[in-house]
Amino acid sequence: MRIAVDLHIHSALSPCAQNDMTPNNIVNMAVLKGLDTIAITDHNSCDNVGAAIAAAGSRLLILPGMEVQSREEVHLLCYFTDLAALNRFESVVRHHFQAPANDPQRFGHQLIINERDEVVGEKRELLISSIDLSIEEVVLEVRKRGGVVVPAHVDRPSYSILSQLGFIPPELGFNTLEVSKSCSGIISHDNKISYLFSSDAHCLADILERESFLFVGELSSNSIIQRLS
Ligand SMILES: [Zn+2]
Ligand SMILES: [Zn+2]
Repeated sequence: MRIAVDLHIHSALSPCAQNDMTPNNIVNMAVLKGLDTIAITDHNSCDNVGAAIAAAGSRLLILPGMEVQSREEVHLLCYFTDLAALNRFESVVRHHFQAPANDPQRFGHQLIINERDEVVGEKRELLISSIDLSIEEVVLEVRKRGGVVVPAHVDRPSYSILSQLGFIPPELGFNTLEVSKSCSGIISHDNKISYLFSSDAHCLADILERESFLFVGELSSNSIIQRLS
């Protein structure tokens, strides 16, 4: 079946996202736009994913995810079949993360929000920093937990695997790469790689319409992870 997805959306937990990127606002906007599956992928954290899953209920599938910034300053989208696996991965990230304190005036707030859209906390450490794990180590930790890594916005001139390394190491075995919506150039002629575009939305209006599709066996996290792997 063909499903409409947007697998890269930031909630108000990311300092760079707007404060109205609450679990309910994101879910309602995605439902309104007719999407089948979305992923909330905050920088090095996942505190609002559970609330989004609760807010969505049976209306929309939320693929548990996170956007990690590796030691090489490469953004990697990490997706899991279930919230428990994502939370276990998050404790690994915490263990390898020593960031300075966030300055909300300068970078923005990092809000933890529950399924009723109530602010229940704020992350203190600046989430837009690198963790102390290499790309290879992130891939290992994600796959160990049944997840998949998709290098983010590979066409961008910063924080992408191509901008930082200049190439995509074949031994890492990536099968899907994310490109920006505006990407028009051909990155590779290698037809073994799939390209997926997402919004990388930091505000509600930027969430995709039905325009980015995946072909999966069924509408489930397992099936999507399989497709991206
Ligand atoms: Zn990014
Ligand atoms: Zn992002």
